[in-house]
Amino acid sequence: MLQTIAGFDRIGEENAFAVLARATALAEEGRDIINLGIGQPDFKTPDHIVEAAIKALRDGHHGYTPATGIAPLREAVSADLLKRHGVETDPANVLIVPGGKVTMFIAILMFGEPGVDILYPDPGFPIYRSMIEFTGARPVPVPIREENDFAFSAEETLELITDKTRLLILNSPANPTGGVTPRAEIEKLVAGLQHHPNVAILSDEIYSQMTYDGMEHVSLLSFEAIRDRLILLDGWSKTYAMTGWRMGFALWPDSLIDKARKLGVNAWSCVNAPAQFGALAALTGPQDAVHEMLREFDARRRVTVNGLNALDGVTCRTPLGAFYAFPNISNTGWKSKDLASALLEETGVALIGGPDFGTLGEGYIRLSYANSTENIERALDRMRKFL
Ligand code: PLP
Repeated sequence: MLQTIAGFDRIGEENAFAVLARATALAEEGRDIINLGIGQPDFKTPDHIVEAAIKALRDGHHGYTPATGIAPLREAVSADLLKRHGVETDPANVLIVPGGKVTMFIAILMFGEPGVDILYPDPGFPIYRSMIEFTGARPVPVPIREENDFAFSAEETLELITDKTRLLILNSPANPTGGVTPRAEIEKLVAGLQHHPNVAILSDEIYSQMTYDGMEHVSLLSFEAIRDRLILLDGWSKTYAMTGWRMGFALWPDSLIDKARKLGVNAWSCVNAPAQFGALAALTGPQDAVHEMLREFDARRRVTVNGLNALDGVTCRTPLGAFYAFPNISNTGWKSKDLASALLEETGVALIGGPDFGTLGEGYIRLSYANSTENIERALDRMRKFL
């Protein structure tokens, strides 16, 4: 028997990929599947980004790059952070990584070990908990509540911090709920965190450019008081419809950037060179496509929420960010995962049961409205008939 470390008995995964695999298998059998399961834009990566990556290959950019990413890209990230969050940063603190997920992987490995606590949102992106468990640290869920419009509560978060807490993971706008935490709550949290100077903060802002109804995205980066312990996670996947390119970036504090870089050197050496040139074009080129996508998501969000609220036993708050709706289905009489699976098998609508995002996800399902309005309407119609 080969003996691997105990972490592999605890590591989890993302059920969204299992649902995608099942949906694909059913589609291959000839079923008409509408996929509201996977969290990726259904748009094409804008042409100028694709062209920049092709040109990079033709120009001979096919070798290793610096481990932290090509200098112009790190400078463009700094310029982007200044433009969007009004904060001056040093490109030397930017680490280009193969996807947004990689930053949470590094951060959790950096702080997790048996005997310490890591706080993470529940319901939340499943990889947080999975990686915390892998390291042997204790995962401490921070409840994300519907009655709070799925924003996190500063008070509840601060109450959970103890001497054992090493890392606090925050996510706004949020997956799976679409919740966006308002400025006042974030200010309250930052004020409270000043009493806990040894807690590092990982702020997952991968949906930072996706808010609606005039809701502002408040970056944790805009708070000077915590900058020396803030890891900012962002990337290209969602904003520029680049999920398959595997391009992410993070801003690390001075004390951690070199540790993160070394882990990268050990694992992937550097990120795919032409993809970095594509990412550079994304940040420095026209942003029209981003705005156009957002307008389209906004329209679909309304169709989704209205349609869900018209279903028997279903209520849905209006999400203010990302591209997910997280309706409450507890009055349908179904358990969440059973409903998700029955909807896929019997109606061909793929979506995800709330418990795949944490224990507090029971009673909810997640729909990604990154699909055409026509498909969303067809899916809602099938759900209406089924329920
Ligand atoms: N963080 C959150 C909250 C996400 O929802 C996702 C993707 O679904 C990621 C990070 C990972 O993004 P990427 O595909 O760039 O690794």
